[in-house]
Amino acid sequence: MSIFKNTEVAFKDKNRFDLYRAYLLFKIISNPILSKILITILKISFKLHLPINWIIKNTVFKQFCGGENIRTSKKITKKLWASKIGSILDYSVEGNQSELDFNKCMNEIINCIKYASENDNIPFSVFKTTGITNFELLKKISSGNELNEIEKKQKYLLEKKFDKICYNAEKYNVPILVDAEESWIQNAIDEIVLKMQKKYNKHKPIVYNTLQMYRHDRIKYLNQILKDAKKEKFYLGLKIVRGAYHQKEINRAKKFNYICPVHTLKNKTDEDFNEALKICVKNYEIVSICAGTHNEESSAILSKLITNNNINNRIYFSQLLGMSDHISYNLSKKNYNVAKYVPYGPIREVIPYLIRRAEENISIEGQIGRELSNIILEIKRRN
Ligand SMILES: Cc1cc2nc3c(=O)[nH]c(=O)nc-3n(C[C@H](O)[C@H](O)[C@H](O)COP(=O)(O)OP(=O)(O)OC[C@H]3O[C@@H](n4cnc5c(N)ncnc54)[C@H](O)[C@@H]3O)c2cc1C
Repeated sequence: MSIFKNTEVAFKDKNRFDLYRAYLLFKIISNPILSKILITILKISFKLHLPINWIIKNTVFKQFCGGENIRTSKKITKKLWASKIGSILDYSVEGNQSELDFNKCMNEIINCIKYASENDNIPFSVFKTTGITNFELLKKISSGNELNEIEKKQKYLLEKKFDKICYNAEKYNVPILVDAEESWIQNAIDEIVLKMQKKYNKHKPIVYNTLQMYRHDRIKYLNQILKDAKKEKFYLGLKIVRGAYHQKEINRAKKFNYICPVHTLKNKTDEDFNEALKICVKNYEIVSICAGTHNEESSAILSKLITNNNINNRIYFSQLLGMSDHISYNLSKKNYNVAKYVPYGPIREVIPYLIRRAEENISIEGQIGRELSNIILEIKRRN
């Protein structure tokens, strides 16, 4: 798509060193054998508590993360804002297990909400439900099986934490995105998000759910929640993504012999993603969206929908920090609303996130090639 081809705009914040670092990183990731070896070494070093922080900090962390905390991420968020690109600070500590960790994560999310309320360049806050409760509980709730007494207590605590986050989002007037996760825990997430939307989205969209369009039931689900929103008079906030757990979904469905919940043809996912954008724009009066995608065609489709319908407010494009700058910077230059996900957290604690990022990059066909060819074009242009 021609509007994304301008690499001078895309990499205006990157000096020569940044470009070569990105080139080297994506080059390594593009080699499946080499990257698998490096990821294995990284996992072992992490488990053995080897002193790898310095290497991580100056390579993958620098490419994909904003900083170790909100304060140190400021340099990146300020730089992005100079190009009118907002930031969505994402506390990317994964694998919390104890109630203490869950509460710590909840408090960090609330800090992010407060920080966003004081900074125009942070249009949303975000969190993962598995950061504030345990995975097994979400799985049990999603299965529809009866909860035991301990689980009932955990569910009560989860709803309390969820409500506290959404309450603060409303209080500080900062919309909050709830990430989507594996399909076998997503029912529980959908249920609680919808409850929060009914409570906090009466006057404007504050709570956003995420729809993964690789799931073949999501268009139907979108139409259902639209009906609910119209009937019960609340606003819908939706982040639209394709979905990050494609192979995991297929493997689990095979293993436990149930109908696979995700499309297995890429064009079907693309069709549903683009259809969801159209449905949302058609219902613009009550729907606000954040399109989380690195796909040029979908980004171009949404930008056309915005222009043709003469709307721009309440529609955001979002990409991850360190990726698809050609989309983010070129859209922003054309005055579309853009915000980057800016992961942050202590280096050791974001390593699982970084490993997942690398593994996802390897598995998404074409993604690394796209990143590399844009970087090469820009390096050549500057020479
Ligand atoms: C800002 C942002 C927020 C995100 N938040 C979430 C989130 O909350 N939850 C979440 O799950 N993911 C999230 N993601 C990740 C997202 O779901 C995708 O995995 C990722 O963005 C790649 O998809 P794409 O739209 O960029 O484009 P593309 O590179 O065009 O699409 C790749 C995607 O297509 C799908 N796909 C690949 N092969 C097939 C196939 N054979 N059949 C059917 N479908 C296929 C998969 O979903 C794959 O990830 C987020 C991404 C961004 C940029």
